[in-house]
Amino acid sequence: ERMIDLKVEDYMSMPIVVDEKTSVYDGIVSLFVNDVGTIFIVKEQGLLEGVVSRKDMLKMAIGKADINQLPVGVIMTRMPNIIITYPEESLWIAARKLIEHQIDGLPVVKRREDGALEIVGRLTKTNITRAFVDLGAGNVSE
Ligand code: ADP
Repeated sequence: ERMIDLKVEDYMSMPIVVDEKTSVYDGIVSLFVNDVGTIFIVKEQGLLEGVVSRKDMLKMAIGKADINQLPVGVIMTRMPNIIITYPEESLWIAARKLIEHQIDGLPVVKRREDGALEIVGRLTKTNITRAFVDLGAGNVSE
């Protein structure tokens, strides 16, 4: 019961975003600099366009592509195929999406009146693990 009450907004992190013209090379640099596994592609006003994972970029890096010239927009998983969550969604529902779709992270979005999705956070397996540890704190003897 306590787990269902936890909200995504209380455990989410800052999203790392780039635009679709960013090269795969710079995308990889961004993974290291920001210590994340997934970056989100946005257009103006922070509207969500795509997702690129570390393996999406690794695949390009070990192939014949020139990753300095190749934009992340070409290799990203794009809307409407992106699995999303919302700040007010139950953390348990978001965790279930990660498991069901076998992905490491979800963009946290707010839906604007015109239907566009504005990215406001990221929720990863790390955030879920932190919630799990918080739930256990005080309930287990070490
Ligand atoms: P990795 O590819 O590094 O193992 P993931 O398991 O998160 O990382 O990603 C697996 C695939 O799913 C990748 O092709 C990625 O673009 C895509 N993906 C990642 N996150 C999402 C998401 N929230 N919605 C839809 N597709 C996603």
